[in-house]
Formats: sequence, C-alpha cells, structure tokens
Amino acid sequence: MEPVEILRAMKSALADGEETALAAVEERLRDPFAVLIATVLSHRTRDERTSEAAMRLFERFRTAQELASADETEVEGLIRGVGFYRNKARAVIKIAKEITNKHEGKVPRDLEGLLELPSVGRKTANCVLVYGFGLEAIPVDTHVHRIANRLGLAKTRTPEETERKLMEIFPRDIWTEVNDTFVMFGKKICRPIGPRCLVCPLRGTCKYYEQVGSGKQREREVKGEKDNQDNKK
Ligand code: SF4
Repeated sequence: MEPVEILRAMKSALADGEETALAAVEERLRDPFAVLIATVLSHRTRDERTSEAAMRLFERFRTAQELASADETEVEGLIRGVGFYRNKARAVIKIAKEITNKHEGKVPRDLEGLLELPSVGRKTANCVLVYGFGLEAIPVDTHVHRIANRLGLAKTRTPEETERKLMEIFPRDIWTEVNDTFVMFGKKICRPIGPRCLVCPLRGTCKYYEQVGSGKQREREVKGEKDNQDNKK
C-alpha cells in the first residue's frame, strides 16, 4: 500500500469528529500562542486533561503579555490536572516572558525561532507550525514514531529520523494531516501496549503484524482452541 493510502485507511478507521487535544485547542482558540502553551501542557498528559487545563488557563490569561506577568501559584492552580504541573507552570511563564520581551508578543513562525524558546523541542515547534500556523510540517511524538516503524513506513531509531523519513514519503500537501491522524490512530487502534490488530485495516500491510502480531494472535487462537477442547473433556 502507498503511504497516502495508508493514511486514508487510518482516517476511515477512526470515528468521525475525533481529534487530538491540540486540534481541539486550535479549533476553539485559533491562536498560535494557545497552541504552543497547550503543547507544552500536553507532555505526558491525557488529551481531555490537556484541553481542560489549556481552556482554564486561557480564560484567565489570554495573551503572552498577560501570562508573562502571571503569578506562578495561580497558574499552577489553573493547570493542576496535567502531569508535572508545577514545572509546566514555571515553563509556560518563562516562554510567555521570552515571547513578550524578544518577539514583541508574537510566536515565531519558523522552526529555528521556535526552537530558541525555553522548553520547546522539535515536536512542540512542529506542532505550533501545523496547528498554530497551518504550515507544512510533521510533528513526531511517540505515537507517530511507533506506528511508522510498526507499519514499516520507517525503520528508524529516533523521532527526528522518523520525521525526515515521513517528510520524504508523504507528499508535502498532506504533511499537516499526518500527526493528528497517527496520534488518534495510536490512541484508538495501534496502541502502545495491546495494539488492536484484529480490527485494524492495515493488518495486511503491517510489518509488526507480519512478524510479531500474527504469531501472538495464532498463539492466542491455538490456546483458545486447546482451552475449548480441555473444557469439553
Ligand atoms: S496491524 Fe496492529 S501493529 Fe499493525 S498498524 Fe494495525 S494495530 Fe498497529
């Protein structure tokens, strides 16, 4: 299957209307600064908690200037539902200060500028490009890295290598769709532990299923048959 067909099959396997926390923030706030801060909040945190915390924070502090002068304890209280909320409160205030002081309150529109901000790595920067500015980029998190490798679209050791590979194999005009689709697919079907291969439309093309998944599945089927026979004895 061609990479584009794989992406289409993933999309059709997902129920309509499902989206990641970042897509939800983008949809509701349409603001690169909100996307940047929500991405920082999302690290090691479930989607629902990320969106809730981000919305609470932005109801109180709408701009980089406002957040730059926020009280850290108050920010902690607003984002308490997310993992490492104390560190993240400190980080988002620091980012807001940097944007206010060095970028006239505006989020940089390019990868290099974004990477210079504190606590902003490649994945976060690419998320801001895609969800904040609608620019072509492929943010690679653990879901994207894992699925690309399981499917055999990439054979890479780091997310950065995966990013390069995916940029090579997907046409540029669909780069912005890759992250959201892979992330949702990774949450619903190709889960980190216990991938749902039996309901996956990509079973026939998946390297992981060919090498590992189908073997495990056969073991389960054989065990099931044996258990049935034992029960009948
Ligand atoms: S067949 Fe299994 S491992 Fe492969 S993509 Fe589908 S869910 Fe993931």
